[in-house]
Amino acid sequence: MPKNEGRRIEIRNTLGRLGIQVSPLCFGTLTLSPLQAGLPRPAGARLIRYALEQGINFFDTADLYGTYPCLREGLRGWTGEAVLASKSYDYTAKGMEKSLARALKETGRECIDIFLLHEQESALTLKGHGEALAYLVKAREKGIVRAVGISTHHVAAVRAASGCSEIDVIHPLLNLEGIGIRDGSREDMEAALKAAAAAGKGIYAMKPLGGGHLIPRAREAFYYMLGLPFLAAVAVGMQDEREVDVNCHYFSGTLPPAGLEEALAGRKRRLMVHDWCEGCGECLKSCRSEALYLEGSRVRVREEACLLCGYCGGSCPQFCLKIV
Ligand code: SF4
Ligand code: SF4
Repeated sequence: MPKNEGRRIEIRNTLGRLGIQVSPLCFGTLTLSPLQAGLPRPAGARLIRYALEQGINFFDTADLYGTYPCLREGLRGWTGEAVLASKSYDYTAKGMEKSLARALKETGRECIDIFLLHEQESALTLKGHGEALAYLVKAREKGIVRAVGISTHHVAAVRAASGCSEIDVIHPLLNLEGIGIRDGSREDMEAALKAAAAAGKGIYAMKPLGGGHLIPRAREAFYYMLGLPFLAAVAVGMQDEREVDVNCHYFSGTLPPAGLEEALAGRKRRLMVHDWCEGCGECLKSCRSEALYLEGSRVRVREEACLLCGYCGGSCPQFCLKIV
């Protein structure tokens, strides 16, 4: 079997007013992180390199994900284009300074193309992160970042960011069924994003498969995203070369080879809670989807609400939570 069954992505879209050129398929590296698949660094780096070779030039990560070393290794010696987006929960100038310094050091780059305030919820949370945003704006002036913005699961945050002149990029949650949107419908989010794009914001979406719930309808789910003119790119988590190949086909407008799509559609992922959970409740604080609850002395998962983001995994002192 030839190694590459994929279709090289040649398309580049403009992400917002600063003119950053990105492939419509963005590699969401959360899947490689210890919070999810936890691929060993060499394997993760090989996959990043493989994605670059297939024409993907856009990579999304976060301070939380622990994938900077993987990206550094995957990008080593690569002379083509590569756009890197990262994000941090920090709300103070000092905290954001440290986060950005860590991103630069661990990726080995002189500039992080896009740096976001992680998981904004509303005008109020954006205001609460004012110091961190002001720090990022200064970093943009110095050329350490090219664009600043927010990531969010909330329509209200998209609306707030639209009216904020400092913000260049919005990274919202969006999918065919609106799974995971915290304060409205898919249509509400679409309307807010359309207005944001008209206001000059660059938009790349996340969770096109609704945290795995739409895997059996992947083709339909991706075609929905590709039909939205205000999206410059969509971040998709990928764990192996087959997933890169199939997604490259979708984002190039061609059909994947027979059998491959079906093989991937059959995968089922879930959040597993190990038996040694002590029911301390610590992990509940890290889930913004309210997908965890305590029953007796154990934590349980509301599967219909879980986005399989894996964020709760890092908060458990007993290492009980894992996406499998
Ligand atoms: S933090 Fe860990 S031990 Fe505590 S309730 Fe959650 S899964 Fe159980
Ligand atoms: S329980 Fe919450 S934090 Fe954990 S994977 Fe699901 S959505 Fe993410």
